Amino acid sequence: MRYLLWFVLLFVDAAQAQQPVFHVLAFYSDTVERDHVDFAHQAIEFYSSVARRRHFDFTATTHWDDLNAGTLAHYQLVIWLDDQPHTPQQRDAFEQYMEHGGGWLGFHIAAYNDSDTDWPWFVRFLGGGVFYGNNWPPLPAEVTVDDPTQSLTKTLPKSFLSPPNEWYIWKPSPRLNKDIKVLMTLSPSNYPIGLKDTIEGGDLPVVWTNTRYRMLYLNMGHGDKIFDSNIQNRLLEEAIPWLAPPCGRSCGH
Ligand code: ZN
Repeated sequence: MRYLLWFVLLFVDAAQAQQPVFHVLAFYSDTVERDHVDFAHQAIEFYSSVARRRHFDFTATTHWDDLNAGTLAHYQLVIWLDDQPHTPQQRDAFEQYMEHGGGWLGFHIAAYNDSDTDWPWFVRFLGGGVFYGNNWPPLPAEVTVDDPTQSLTKTLPKSFLSPPNEWYIWKPSPRLNKDIKVLMTLSPSNYPIGLKDTIEGGDLPVVWTNTRYRMLYLNMGHGDKIFDSNIQNRLLEEAIPWLAPPCGRSCGH
């Protein structure tokens, strides 16, 4: 009996070893706004747990210089939790990575850009929207699913209450770009949203992809309540397999 068990374990081990491993590298900063750091720490805990259950490799780092060709060659997906690269070398390496089939998942402040950002490629990559405003304080909001046929959204209700977040609105709306597919939107029923800073209205995409890239942006990511919704957690979890590359030999190393 003991030998039988041993053979079974050996077989399971061999089967798992043959599965291509999907490598994910998450970047974050500990020196940015406290609410964004809180989100990053919770996200690392969340995705570490998802990685164990769904058998992918997950690493988090504050070392943004790891955005270089040599390191990125080992990863099929890059996540930015609470910051973005600031040096030309890091930005160039990321552009090359994405232009050649890399994957990106960005949260909240990761997509922030204004006249000082000085990175036109990144604004095009996001769909052309420049940060225009946000609500304050962070508030829960009803979000609606634009496309329920995606594996990312198909297990979600048509709309649900997303936990308190600082919601960003962009001008022009990324939806106006033909390459952008909006997957979730802040419901107009939330307007006006905010107390100190209020968004009165307007098209506010919450989750979208630029179909020219393997990328996904989610506006969630402010504070320590983001993972309080089991419904939303499904979205946050499914974002990873949704972004997985068509797996060839490249996933095997
Ligand atoms: Zn924020």
